[in-house]
Amino acid sequence: MTRDVLVSDQIALLATGDELSNGDILNTNSQEIAQRLFNNGMHVGRHMVTGDRIADIRDAICYLLQSHRALIITGGLGPTSDDLTRYALADALEQELVFDIPTWDSIVQRLKNFGYASPPPNNRQQALFPSAATIIPNPNGTAAGCQVQQSEQFIFMLPGPPIECLPMVDQIVLPTLIKNHFQKILFHHKWLLFGVSEGQIAEELDLLAKPYDCMTGYRLWYPYIEFKLYSNNQMDFLSLLPQIEKTVAPYIIGDGKNSASVLLKNHLAAIDFTIAIADHATGGLLESIIKTPRTAAHLHFLNDLTQSLHSLNIAIDGLDEFWQNQNTALTSLELRFMTEQTQHHSHHDLPFRGLRVKQYAVELICRQLYTYLNLN
Ligand code: ATP
Repeated sequence: MTRDVLVSDQIALLATGDELSNGDILNTNSQEIAQRLFNNGMHVGRHMVTGDRIADIRDAICYLLQSHRALIITGGLGPTSDDLTRYALADALEQELVFDIPTWDSIVQRLKNFGYASPPPNNRQQALFPSAATIIPNPNGTAAGCQVQQSEQFIFMLPGPPIECLPMVDQIVLPTLIKNHFQKILFHHKWLLFGVSEGQIAEELDLLAKPYDCMTGYRLWYPYIEFKLYSNNQMDFLSLLPQIEKTVAPYIIGDGKNSASVLLKNHLAAIDFTIAIADHATGGLLESIIKTPRTAAHLHFLNDLTQSLHSLNIAIDGLDEFWQNQNTALTSLELRFMTEQTQHHSHHDLPFRGLRVKQYAVELICRQLYTYLNLN
């Protein structure tokens, strides 16, 4: 294969398998891997999906290698006749497939541990790799992966099951890419914002960022907005950071990285008292989210708090507009936190956007309770 087009520092992702191209399963590998690359400051280029045809896989590899400095391929390394990625890769790279004895030994050993006296002959193809490949062991399956370096290009071939390929990405692919200077966006930070709309905050943050050599990004993860700031310019990034932090501070919960329900669940798992909650607003959603095996001993959902002997009692009322199907822009929520000595009441108006308002209410209740527990 010849390559006469300038190769960028972008990394391409190729996922193979008929179950992906036919839509039977979702290509979560590319999403997971892209996130890991991006979070490590790398440039993610094109994503492609092919079925199990050897020519399609080979053509996709050749195409992606024309414009990317690295390629991560997932899927098609199993023992069956439709597992053809290794053949396609060897063809694309114009390399022979070579039988790797240590890989075969570990397949034999693994299958013996699962009770096979001798492995099925089909498994032998899982020990074939392009001649210049370095094997990437797979601690969670028989399908080892490999890495091939051709001049300044890096190609990784990994198995399809996420439980197998993602640890290989974390342990081998990312460190190799970092070592080989694929990290381009050196400074980045992200915040989870609650209680503000994207339209409201984006204008303000973009205006702040405008004079600096920094980029901003937004993602709605209802009811949160994930805001990202990234740059290659350390001075600009560090000058802008405090201004951004000041602006987003009212919308940040805890560390700004986790949702209120996650922070609350972690907190509740460690308390040494019990809380009674009478939830007359979220229709059981709050309980289903915050009651887990780790928190259940500390949480009691009751209908009526009058006889409650728990250290903290919480009454939650509201969302009437939602339950009565009224067409309003806002709906309200009343929270009462009561101990033997204190009473704390708060009223909240929530944007009413159909069924999602329950999710909003749960995160708001979690934020209030998390803040209350941290202050008292
Ligand atoms: P195996 O030894 O299991 O055959 P393999 O490397 O051949 O491994 P595939 O046959 O491509 O992998 O995929 C096996 C399973 O992994 C698929 O049935 C699917 O459940 C999952 N899988 C494959 N590719 C993806 C992907 N891109 N995203 C999410 N899941 C995937």
